[in-house]
Amino acid sequence: MRPETCIIVAESPGSLSFEVQDVPMIAELAASAHAKLIVDNTWGLGIFQPFAHGAHISVQALTKYAGGHSDIILGR
Ligand SMILES: *Cc1c(COP(=O)(O)O)cnc(C)c1O
Repeated sequence: MRPETCIIVAESPGSLSFEVQDVPMIAELAASAHAKLIVDNTWGLGIFQPFAHGAHISVQALTKYAGGHSDIILGR
């Protein structure tokens, strides 16, 4: 974190490694710095789950479950 940090981007679970981030802790860190937290939740339980843990923006790649063929660009 730097004084000018205004956005934190997390990916949870992580691609291929599937490690789960401590999103509530990261959300607290973001709040303490007045930063926004973006969570890429593509491998998670759903687009809304990160909001329950303090994320401001939730991202889910539609190229996986929704599209399945890597031939759509929605969700980018
Ligand atoms: C696949 C994936 C994306 C998006 O990938 P594209 O297929 O390039 O759109 C984004 N985040 C995560 C965690 C992914 O696994």
